[in-house]
Formats: sequence, structure tokens, C-alpha cells
Amino acid sequence: MVCLKPCKFRKVRKDFVFHSIIAGQVAVPRASSLECPKCRERLFSPKEHQAIIDNVLKVEKKLITQQPIERFITTKMAADILGMTRQSFNRNKRIKRGFIMYHKMGDFSYYLRKSVEMYKKTSDGRYPL
Ligand SMILES: [Zn+2]
Repeated sequence: MVCLKPCKFRKVRKDFVFHSIIAGQVAVPRASSLECPKCRERLFSPKEHQAIIDNVLKVEKKLITQQPIERFITTKMAADILGMTRQSFNRNKRIKRGFIMYHKMGDFSYYLRKSVEMYKKTSDGRYPL
């Protein structure tokens, strides 16, 4: 139901389900927010919003970390597949934002080959793990 008048929010604390391309449905337990009981619109504080994002990133990172080593390639190999120099690969904003799934170990990042190949085709290398 949609509210015709402004929503009347009240404080709630309940599970929130976030839909992640990589991790699927990630349940964030007992997320506090304001909710309109009529239209179910929910408002999160910036702090709670950040906590939800952090939780989802943690789950995604864990799934990437669990991938077998042979699925990963080096930055040089990933840049070669995309026809980029390593410098432009490392500076690319979309890549930096995680559109290619990677695992960081010390100073080195390792990229999922399939993710690099998907990124080459669609500019989005995220897929369900
Ligand atoms: Zn409402």
C-alpha cells in the first residue's frame, strides 16, 4: 500500500534483507530503522546504513576468498585480457569499485578470471558465487 499522506514512521529493529549480485540475499539481523507501518517504507541512519554495507561487503569478500586458487589471475594477466596497461587497470574507477572480483594479499591483488572476462563483455564482472 502506498501512503497518500506523509508516512508516520516509528522505530523498529528487525532483519533487513539486502540483495547482492555476488552473495545473493544477505540478511542483516536486527537492523534498526524507522518504518512506516502502512507502506513499509524504511529509513536507515547513515550509521546503520554503513553497518549494512560493511556486513554485505564482508560476506562478499568471504565468498571470493573461498574460491579455488586456479580461478585467480594476476593484475598483469587481467590487464592483458582487457587490453589495458597495468597502470590504467589500477586507476580504472569501475575496477576500483569492485566490478571485477578480486582478493587482496599484501601489496598484490588477484582477480577472478571469469570476472575479468565478464567485465570485458559487459563492464560488470560480478556474478553469483
Ligand atoms: Zn508510509
